[in-house]
Amino acid sequence: MSAIETQFQQVRDRIHAAENACGRAGAVKLLAVSKTKPARLVREAWHTGQRDFGENYVQEGIDKIQALQDLVDICWHFIGPLQSNKTRAVAEHFDWVHSVDRLKIAQRLSEQRPGHLPPLNICIQVNISDEDTKSGVSPEDAQSLAAEIVTLPNLALRGLMAIPIPTDDPAAQHAAFRAMSALLATLQDRWPEQALDTLSMGMSNDLEAAIEEGATMVRIGTALFGARDYS
Ligand SMILES: *Cc1c(COP(=O)(O)O)cnc(C)c1O
Repeated sequence: MSAIETQFQQVRDRIHAAENACGRAGAVKLLAVSKTKPARLVREAWHTGQRDFGENYVQEGIDKIQALQDLVDICWHFIGPLQSNKTRAVAEHFDWVHSVDRLKIAQRLSEQRPGHLPPLNICIQVNISDEDTKSGVSPEDAQSLAAEIVTLPNLALRGLMAIPIPTDDPAAQHAAFRAMSALLATLQDRWPEQALDTLSMGMSNDLEAAIEEGATMVRIGTALFGARDYS
């Protein structure tokens, strides 16, 4: 087996073990975070059966999307910080955006989503660890942003995303993810008619805790593709 095949199998095994440990078999989708990795490795991952890929940088993502147009059923997720001058490119090329934390960005994505494409799937990014530096709305503001997004015609609000402060303390990992689950539940109660089915949380180091607390999509980079080289 190639390194990619081996690493994808190992991560799938981790996900299945975590799902089974809490009685959630089949509940979690693997989003392969391919930022900084070449299109060649994304193609190799696709051949192992992977379909969902996450990118953080607009131009890098679009270059890969265009290079890989022949891959059937591939689904592209934008998961990085999004500036308003880049919303058009994202609305035109991606299927999901996980990092919406401002109404202005949501409005532009809806206006700029091409009419021949299905609604753009949206997660609101929540700053669940109360960090000054990270993007994301406060849990309190997530409700009011959701209330605006559900009115935008070319967006489909699917749920919430978080990047909790990195920690090896399982109790702290669980606490952040549990707060996210509770927040999604309040949105589901308020908008039962929306398909609010997505909790995008859990990365290479904390996917088990995220799955135990209700993640439906884990975003994994390093464990699948190896360490990133930003040089
Ligand atoms: C890079 C990145 C990931 C993947 O992180 P790993 O620790 O490499 O698994 C997940 N989510 C977001 C938003 C990222 O930027």
